[in-house]
Amino acid sequence: MVNFYNNTHASSTFYPNTRAAIGEVDFREEMYDMLYTKKRGADIVYRRAIIENGVPKKCECTKHNRSGEADRDIACSLCEGMGYYFKDYIVKSYINHSQAYAIYKKIKSIGESQVEYKTAYFEWNFLHRLTGDETSIPNRFDKIIQLNKDLAGSIASPSTAREMYDILSVEPYRLDNSGRIEYYRIRIISVVDKSFLV
Ligand SMILES: [Zn+2]
Repeated sequence: MVNFYNNTHASSTFYPNTRAAIGEVDFREEMYDMLYTKKRGADIVYRRAIIENGVPKKCECTKHNRSGEADRDIACSLCEGMGYYFKDYIVKSYINHSQAYAIYKKIKSIGESQVEYKTAYFEWNFLHRLTGDETSIPNRFDKIIQLNKDLAGSIASPSTAREMYDILSVEPYRLDNSGRIEYYRIRIISVVDKSFLV
C-alpha cells in the first residue's frame, strides 16, 4: 500500500490568475510562492486513509484478533500496523509549530509525553492533484508524516519517517467575498506511539 513516489509536482497551470487583474491578493499564488518559489515548503508524506462507509477500510490483520486492532507484534506488511488501508503521497507542505504551543503547555501536566501540536499548510487543490479526484478533501483519518532528510536537504533514500501526526482539524481558508478555497490549514498533533519508526 505504500506508494511514496506517486505524484509529486504541482503545475502552474492550476493557478489561473484572475484576482491579480482586479488588484486583489491571490492567496493561492501566495501559497504557491511560499512553498515553491521561496522554498519554505518541505516534502512530506500525506497518508490518505481509504474510506469505506464513512470509516477507514480495515486491514485483514485486524480480523484475526479479538480487539479488532492491528497486530503490532507482527508488523503487517499491508497496513504497517495502522490497522486500515491507506495510500501515501509525497506533497509540499509548510509546517509550523508556533500556533498551538500554548495548548501544549496547558495540558502538559497530564504527562511528560512528547506530544507536539503544529499547523500544516497545503495548497487548495493538493489532494485533487494527488488523487485525481476533485471531490477529495482532507479527512481526520489521514496522517501527515515528516521524513528524514539527507545532508543536502533531500529526502533520504530509502525514506524513513521522522514523525507522524494525527489530524485534529481541517480548515479550508476562504476569503469573505468568494467561496473558493485559498489554501488548507490543518492542525496536527504528533502520534505518541513511535512504533512506526523503523
Ligand atoms: Zn494490517
